[in-house]
Amino acid sequence: MMQLRAETTPWLEVKDLSVSYKEGIPSLRDISFSMKQGEIIGIVGESGSGKSTLIRALLGLLPVGGQYSGGEITFRDWVLLRDSQQNWRGMRGKRIAMVFQDSGSYLNPIRSIGSQYVEAIRAHFPMSRKEAWGLAVRTLARMELDDPERVLHSYASQLSGGMKQRTAIAMAAALEPELLLADEPTSALDVTTQNEVMSQLSKLCADKGTGMILVTHNMAIAAHMADRIGVMLDSRLVELGDTLRVISNPEHAYTRKLLDAVPELEGNKHDQ
Ligand code: ADP
Ligand code: MG
Repeated sequence: MMQLRAETTPWLEVKDLSVSYKEGIPSLRDISFSMKQGEIIGIVGESGSGKSTLIRALLGLLPVGGQYSGGEITFRDWVLLRDSQQNWRGMRGKRIAMVFQDSGSYLNPIRSIGSQYVEAIRAHFPMSRKEAWGLAVRTLARMELDDPERVLHSYASQLSGGMKQRTAIAMAAALEPELLLADEPTSALDVTTQNEVMSQLSKLCADKGTGMILVTHNMAIAAHMADRIGVMLDSRLVELGDTLRVISNPEHAYTRKLLDAVPELEGNKHDQ
């Protein structure tokens, strides 16, 4: 949190982004924000407020039926969306990667974890199989998975849900994307594991200068992980600010409500 690793130039820039699933019912309304290189932004808000839609919209991966109704997205010098013209090719996976709550369940059941891992790494980096295997072992070890070699020799069915999810998160991080979009990546895990995986993930991001937008319904996780916190309510980004400012002096009544639901949160002693 609050590392001095960010530059001042905007890096990801989102302007007036709007998305709807059905005519007349917007799921994102005029979302605007920018992000600095290596920054971690936590997005919180109640279920149905548009968090998943936002994070998917950034990478052009809207669910079936979702439509851009306006806005612009640029990433560095690359226009991703303008006037509904979309240009995500070459960006997905390598420069911008995504992890979902159930990413672990997308592992191929009929191939060993290691062969999938090595293939994904080699699709991104010019490496021998042996070098890619070594990188896989190191990233799994960074996620503090006990026996990386054993994990790599396993099939998905031989791992617990938590192990699969940790493996999938480690795999996404191993590809060293510039920006990682994470949609509730740990909410299917038990609370202790959630905290572990989150702190390992933030270390991986800090090491590589990877920026992250982390969607979570858990304000405490956002407060621990993020440089800035954004709050979504009913398809709008109603608040966005430095983590300390948001938790100590929230501007929006809804943010205050979210904070009041987390009594143990440090800095939650805002004026009432
Ligand atoms: P969150 O992730 O904050 O729970 P979502 O982005 O999933 O919110 O949903 C925002 C709104 O968009 C909700 O009203 C939801 O019903 C609607 N929505 C999400 N996905 C779809 C879909 N595939 N088809 C139609 N409506 C959807
Ligand atoms: Mg969601």
